[in-house]
Amino acid sequence: MMGGFSLAVHGGAGVLHRDQMTPEREADYHAALERVLSAGEAVLDADGSALDAVTQAVCALENEPLFNAGRGAVFTRNEQQEMDAALMDGRNRQAGAVAGIFGPKNPVLAARSVLEHTDHVLMIGEGALAVARTAGLDFEEQDYFFTQERWDALQETLKMEAEGTLDDDPSRRHGTVGAVARDRNGHLAAATSTGGMTAKRSGRVGDSPVIGAGTYADDATCAVSATGDGEAFLRLCAAHEIDARMRLTSVSLERAAEDVIMTELTALNGTGGIIALDRNGAITTPFNCEGMYRGWSVEGDGRKTAIY
Ligand code: ASP
Repeated sequence: MMGGFSLAVHGGAGVLHRDQMTPEREADYHAALERVLSAGEAVLDADGSALDAVTQAVCALENEPLFNAGRGAVFTRNEQQEMDAALMDGRNRQAGAVAGIFGPKNPVLAARSVLEHTDHVLMIGEGALAVARTAGLDFEEQDYFFTQERWDALQETLKMEAEGTLDDDPSRRHGTVGAVARDRNGHLAAATSTGGMTAKRSGRVGDSPVIGAGTYADDATCAVSATGDGEAFLRLCAAHEIDARMRLTSVSLERAAEDVIMTELTALNGTGGIIALDRNGAITTPFNCEGMYRGWSVEGDGRKTAIY
């Protein structure tokens, strides 16, 4: 199958409420999403693979401190940063993922090194870091990953917990980044990277690095990257559920994604959203909360970024 490329990216479903969003901040988010789209488009426009495009787009998202992944990742309740990332190649359903890691500048590249240099899919701890080191990846120290905003969010969350006033406001808790792409050869890929949820327990792993929950790609159906309440996405096997509905009941991507997010996720009291595209490059971005930082680009049809 041939045709033009498609790319969609997200910077998480934990958007600032409209009344807290200033025009300057809004412009910063749009500009960051534009930079990320450019990084992915550059690969696809040079006839690169969907897998390379989602890898580059997620690296660009991880490098933006505005988003909860890589630089700017949220803190655990022990004041650490533990990052999860995954990617999947729709050509052959090969996948690589890492969970709970700290050190690699770009966790998605650590996931890619698991895909490329091991027989495994999901790795944690020292073993995952050793694979990243052997692959020659850049490592960074705490001061690179630290942002004041995420630190303050942790302190605020712990204070609310202590006072018994903790709510489940997505704008404080959520965030993740991801990309899905269809290349000019009709191949699909998905990648997701996150610091997880603010004030999570040390050792907690969300949906993002779990293939079939927060990340999935198969050329026959779709590529999906999720953001939101990780535990709900895990219980739903959300990304694979969308694939399964398309494969087994022949519904469109749009319908499958809408049902899983608006009906199933909502029924579990979960909030969040996904970005997804199908084998024809048609993109859908449903979410059941106030907003999701997102952008998309379709060859010959231009690009767009959106928050609410
Ligand atoms: N889904 C991510 C996690 O549970 C967080 C998010 O997207 O907000 O780790």
